[in-house]
Amino acid sequence: MFLIFVLLAIVLIPLAIGIVRTLVLKRKHYEIPLPAPIPATDRTIEKLQHAITFKTVSSREEGKTDWDQFIQFATYLAEAFPLCEKHLKLESQSDHNLIYRFAGEDTTALPGLLTAHQDVVSASDDQWTYPPFAKTLEEGYVWGRGSFDCKLQLIAILEAFELLLQESKKPKRTWYAAFGCDEEVNGGNKGATLIAEQFERMGLTFSLLLDEGGVVSENYIKGINRPIAVVGVAEKGYIDTLLSCSREAGHSSTPLMPTALGKIAKAVTAIESSKQEARLTKPVQAMLRNIGEEAPFPLAFLFLNLWLTKPLIMLIFSKSPTLNALIRTTSVPTMIEGSDKSNVIALTSSAVINTRLLPGDTQEQTLKHLKAVIADEEVSLSVRRYEEPSKESPTTGEAFDQLKATISQVFPEAIVTSYLMLGATDARKYQQLCQHIYRFTPAQMGRSEVNRMHAPDERIHTDNVEKAVAFFLALLKNW
Ligand SMILES: [Zn+2]
Repeated sequence: MFLIFVLLAIVLIPLAIGIVRTLVLKRKHYEIPLPAPIPATDRTIEKLQHAITFKTVSSREEGKTDWDQFIQFATYLAEAFPLCEKHLKLESQSDHNLIYRFAGEDTTALPGLLTAHQDVVSASDDQWTYPPFAKTLEEGYVWGRGSFDCKLQLIAILEAFELLLQESKKPKRTWYAAFGCDEEVNGGNKGATLIAEQFERMGLTFSLLLDEGGVVSENYIKGINRPIAVVGVAEKGYIDTLLSCSREAGHSSTPLMPTALGKIAKAVTAIESSKQEARLTKPVQAMLRNIGEEAPFPLAFLFLNLWLTKPLIMLIFSKSPTLNALIRTTSVPTMIEGSDKSNVIALTSSAVINTRLLPGDTQEQTLKHLKAVIADEEVSLSVRRYEEPSKESPTTGEAFDQLKATISQVFPEAIVTSYLMLGATDARKYQQLCQHIYRFTPAQMGRSEVNRMHAPDERIHTDNVEKAVAFFLALLKNW
């Protein structure tokens, strides 16, 4: 009997503590006044459509980027946003980058910085429903490469500036806008890198930096039927590791096993079926708390009592590719090479493993993990590219609070939270200039829409064009 009481107490006491904590921490939804409707939405949509027609495709290979397209794009922006061009445009000290400065009412306050990129990834006509560089407006969407990533952000920022100028209004503080030309070239150094250097020479630091990033995501977590606006407060790191193996070549009619290719294939398979240790980083802990405060009870209980529920959360997150990437460093094979003839055994075979590092994890840890998983002395590892995880921006403080309030104003249904960005953006290039770097794209969509980014049939709903302009107008007023 006593034993039953003890067992019951072991189960019930944590449960009771968890329920009380959940009830105390859960927040009631509060109403925030909506911003005024945006005038001239059709005109903004038209500008975005036009912006897409410039093939501002950036390329890693020297000489492959058609800079003429960037020159034409800049000329178009000058025509489409004449007041920005006349009053705000600054001389860029680097080619093909665009910088604007909008003096605010309070010139003593530390300025803010809005960033976006002009360049896009390539697109081939044959895979698209509508041509990728045309002015298509169909089914309520603007279609085309860059419609979402990142010309929406760029056009919406300029439109917000232009609308304020038309009404002879000023933002609350001074705002800069900077549009680099090579964000899509991983590790590019002509765009944001040079803009950040120019800002440094100008002696500028910023109170808040907003770059592209998380969206107002529909169906982000099962069981929560409100959209979740996810604001990136840190970015994962990046490693490309080359695996290589050399063995006897010979003719394929008299094969000697195992081959170099076989060994590489075995290594790749081993990496695919291995997992690195899961961990809740600070941005993800903050995300769970923010979502928990506004989630329905069972999920609120789960997210607000990590001391009790962490193992279960790790298990649930591990099942979804997006959520799994939030809790662990991931490594995946992306390229493989063997012989270039069907009847020749390759002397050397290789593969590239792409790793995305959680904040706090290191290159050394990853190499140690990969070596242990491969467990083959004949397979050598060398790092081809490495970028450490970004710094973490604070999830408390005035700048973040104002950003959250602005998001709630434009997307009143959404739960707003910080999160960890899985991809890399230009934002990391400005780390020396700003402590409060946030990554958010003011558009509401489901995963299937987000997945069109860098893929065929990229598009943006016209409602989102209006929302994006409303968001930037509200931000200029609030911060
Ligand atoms: Zn982008």
